[in-house]
Amino acid sequence: MNMLTYEIPTKCYIGTDVISNFGEVIKKYGDKALIVTGRNSSKKNGSFDDVKTLLNKINIDYVVFDSIEENPSLETIEKARIIGIDEGVDFIIGIGGGSPIDASKAIGILIKNIKYTAFHFIGEKNLESLPIIAVPTTAGTGTEVTQYAIVTDNKDKCKKNMGHSVFPKVAFLDPKYMKDMNFDITVSTAVDAFSHLVEAYLNTNANFISDMYCEKGIGIFKKCLIKLIEKELDMDLRENLMMVSMLGGFAIAQVGTSIPHGMGYALTYNKGISHGVANCILYREYLKCFKNQEKVRKIIDILELESIDTLGNYLDEIINLDFRVTEEEIREYSKGMASNKGKLKNHPEAITEEEIFNIYKKSLLK
Ligand code: NAP
Ligand code: FE
Repeated sequence: MNMLTYEIPTKCYIGTDVISNFGEVIKKYGDKALIVTGRNSSKKNGSFDDVKTLLNKINIDYVVFDSIEENPSLETIEKARIIGIDEGVDFIIGIGGGSPIDASKAIGILIKNIKYTAFHFIGEKNLESLPIIAVPTTAGTGTEVTQYAIVTDNKDKCKKNMGHSVFPKVAFLDPKYMKDMNFDITVSTAVDAFSHLVEAYLNTNANFISDMYCEKGIGIFKKCLIKLIEKELDMDLRENLMMVSMLGGFAIAQVGTSIPHGMGYALTYNKGISHGVANCILYREYLKCFKNQEKVRKIIDILELESIDTLGNYLDEIINLDFRVTEEEIREYSKGMASNKGKLKNHPEAITEEEIFNIYKKSLLK
């Protein structure tokens, strides 16, 4: 039997009002918290108030850093690092989408290891973090149950995984925070979750445990896809997407993502396309590029669709996108992807730079 390691250490509390019901579990992480969040959404969707109410109730002091932008930059992480050290915080509560929660993980490492700044900790051997509590308000990245944090490095002009393993200690997953999310953010985060399930399933490291999460998650996504096409953004959809996202997180925590994520980062950095959409606009051609179509066919069967093109047409229908890219630009992105060993090794078949270029070209230069 092939050897296999399996680790999901995050304690998840799932359901409506989990913070008011179970929030006290965070008491053991210290006396002072740094709340890390984005500029607006957490104040509108109730998650920020729920966390503040909890901290007041259990007598935990806190400071707030609420300037995390989408695709968090090392510059912003550096500002939060300085505040966290000056304030002597014991743990971090990340509230929001993948951006604030990923930033929390990086900030947690930097406060714990004060000799590093945000510009010098990537590439070091695995560093420990302060405890992280995750309150996801999007259903996409699954970061509340993964060890990854994706940051934007403006010096190298790209997005990168920080490379240290930081699983949140606790995740509070409450679908009510997503109730009023608009259609475009709902779609871009939903297709990110879907892309995690697919890339984990079609992955060199896939195993029977990760496949179980993927098959279950893709089955739930099937129902979500129909609702997204009909623009039926009800609580049933919110709950299902939250599960799809969490299952996707469980799967990629074990096996990682693959080439669409590597290819999508260039589109997000250079063209500002949201993360999930940047992956999924490549999906029709990515799925067709497999020489062995056996597992691809299984995905299409679980979705109860006819073909890759039917899936591609559905994704085109829900993704709202208007941007221009040139052949020279995608040559450049292909070169970058062809040297991304981390993602390439997760793709189970040999793939050349020319084949990568063709995925970009057929997807984007129609
Ligand atoms: P995000 O970048 O965190 O947020 C996108 C937008 O959604 C922001 O404008 C945010 O507003 C808004 N928003 C958040 N919650 C909302 C809500 N409940 N209702 C309405 N609007 C809401 O989006 P994301 O897609 O969740 O995260 C993307 C990042 O995660 C990328 O950097 C990606 O590379 C990374 N990622 C990480 C992993 C991992 O395993 N760590 C996996 C995949 C992707 P505010 O700014 O006002 O909060
Ligand atoms: Fe992703």
